[in-house]
This record gives sequence, C-alpha cells and structure tokens, in this order.
Amino acid sequence: MKIAIFSNDKPKSRTFRNKLSRELRDRNIILTSRDPDIVVTVGGDGTLLSAFHRYAHQLDRIRFIGVHTGHLGFYTDWRDYELPELVEALTKDSGQSVSYPLLDVYVEYFDGGHDHYVALNESTIRRVNKTMKSEVYIRNELFESFRGDGLCISTPTGSTAYSKSLGGAVLHPRLEALQMTEVASINNRLFRTLSSPIVIAPDEFITIRPDAQEDYILTVDSFTHRVRPISQVTFRVAKERIHFARYRHMHFWDRVEDAFIGSKQSHVKRS
Ligand code: NAP
Ligand code: MN
Repeated sequence: MKIAIFSNDKPKSRTFRNKLSRELRDRNIILTSRDPDIVVTVGGDGTLLSAFHRYAHQLDRIRFIGVHTGHLGFYTDWRDYELPELVEALTKDSGQSVSYPLLDVYVEYFDGGHDHYVALNESTIRRVNKTMKSEVYIRNELFESFRGDGLCISTPTGSTAYSKSLGGAVLHPRLEALQMTEVASINNRLFRTLSSPIVIAPDEFITIRPDAQEDYILTVDSFTHRVRPISQVTFRVAKERIHFARYRHMHFWDRVEDAFIGSKQSHVKRS
C-alpha cells in the first residue's frame, strides 16, 4: 500500500505529518506523493479540497482520509491526537470505503473552446462589477431569467459550505443530487427567479447561459477562473465520485450538529 501525506503549512500540521511519516515508515509502508492508494490530508477541509484537486485525475483509485489540526471538519474526522489509532487503522486497512457525489462543470466559450472541471464543494458563476444576467435551463428547458450577483451549484457534501451561507439546505451526502442557490437575485417584471434553492435529480442537469460579457468569474471550490466570454456552463452529477477510507463511522447529522450548533454536550451535562 502506498500512502501520500498532504498537509498545510501550519506548525501543528507539519508536526503531525512528520510523526505520521515516521510511524508509517517504521511499519514498512511506502510513502509517496506519486500514484498513492491513500491520501492522508492534514489541516482542514480546505486542505482536503486542495488534495482533491491535486489528485483529481486519479479519483477512481485513491481513497482519502482527513485529519484536522483545527476544528472538526466535514471531510476531516480524525483529530491530531488520534495518531496511534490512525496508524493502527492504516496498517490493518482492508479497503473499507465510502463515496460521495461530485459536480461536473462543463464550460463552453464563444470562441468554440471549452473547459471541464470536477468540484467537490461547489462551482459558482458570478459577476462583480455589474449584475449578472443569464438564462437558467433545466434539462434544456428554460426555467428562469436570472439577474443578480450570481449562482452557486453545490454537491451534497458542499451543502455545508458556501451554499449554506447562501441559504441552501444541508443535504445528506448519501443523496445523489445537486443544489442550486442564488446569490442576491433581483426580482422584477423582467427578471423573475424562483428565489429559493432547488435540488435536482441525478439524471437532470442545469445550464446557465449568461449575457455576453467578459467579466464573469467562475469558481470551482477554492479556485477562481477569470474566464473569456462564456456561452454556457452545464452542471451535472459527475461520473466520478470521491472515495474516503472509512475505518469508523460518524453520523452526518452529528457532524452537522457539532459544527454548527454545538450545544449537545452542554445540554447532556445539564440534564
Ligand atoms: P477558506 O476561505 O479557507 O474556507 C472557508 C471555510 O469553509 C473554512 O472554514 C473551511 O473549513 C470551510 N469549508 C470548506 N469546505 C467545507 C464543507 N464542505 N463544509 C463546511 N465547511 C467547509 O477557503 P478554502 O479552505 O479554500 O475552502 C474553499 C471553500 O470555502 C469553497 O469551496 C466554499 O465552499 C467556501 N467558501 C465559503 C464562503 C461563504 O460561506 N461565504 C465564501 C467563499 C468560500 P476549514 O477551516 O476546515 O478549511
Ligand atoms: Mn481553509
């Protein structure tokens, strides 16, 4: 088994990475950043996002594990003080995994070119200087005319990130669905949007056709692409999925509670 350790630059993360490397080498596990079977990320959810994009071309053969050196994350469920348990789990690995849906982003330009991305959290199309005007199609049928700052399409695991700040619902990651949320839509006689988030089915796709302008920003997770004139962007559930090595299970709603509410422990103590 080959393992890659991918950490951010925080001292706590680097210390953990060094300790983990030593422990794994002592057990004759190969550490390599090329063609790993398992990628252990050390840092936060942002670190896992970076690692995901670093290995996006090998998603079918890689399993990820997230260790957090800050707060509990959505992709990072091991704590840095659990190093012995993690080493034990890795040495006894028998291929246990769980996988989640990803977002496929297909951008077409007026010049005939195209770009293709896969997102773990979300992709947004936005305009900063003026409002964005665009038509939104679902399965090639015109759905609405949008005017506002932009639109966000997120995966179920991305529903606790930017999408949530935009008023989106939190989706259980076992659902194979995508959610579209609006960023400050203007509603008047000319432009009318649904004004609430929508969740589409696995076989559906959303196409956004913005007005011909040059200053759109397309984001894919932590990446920002300042793109040339776009004719349309199509979003659908990707063929690929992200796999995590699952050595133990934490219920999704426990994680949501811990991240956003956090009152359960004190409540239990009181009663
Ligand atoms: P960042 O600015 O460092 O991350 C923003 C925050 O989002 C961090 O606290 C990060 O957690 C958290 N996060 C990332 N993925 C998450 C998820 N699936 N569920 C819950 N929280 C999550 O930038 P970054 O680390 O490169 O992450 C990029 C992501 O930030 C984008 O994909 C977008 O979802 C999010 N974002 C959110 C807003 C907003 O809510 N207004 C605005 C821009 C971007 P860690 O601290 O553990 O890294
Ligand atoms: Mn971050």
